[in-house]
Amino acid sequence: MVVIWIGIGIGVLIAAALIYKIIKTSKNEYISLRCKRCGFKTNGLKCPICETEKTLR
Ligand SMILES: [Zn+2]
Repeated sequence: MVVIWIGIGIGVLIAAALIYKIIKTSKNEYISLRCKRCGFKTNGLKCPICETEKTLR
């Protein structure tokens, strides 16, 4: 029976680590708010580089 509990513990730890990783990456993406196309930091605003590129074309 102990082996089962150890297995459950390891499974929970792996799941928690995966969830933590997902939250961390999504949070970082949310905070940085970089342009998806060029990676320029826009702070949630429209990307000036891509916007000028649009108008030039
Ligand atoms: Zn851009």
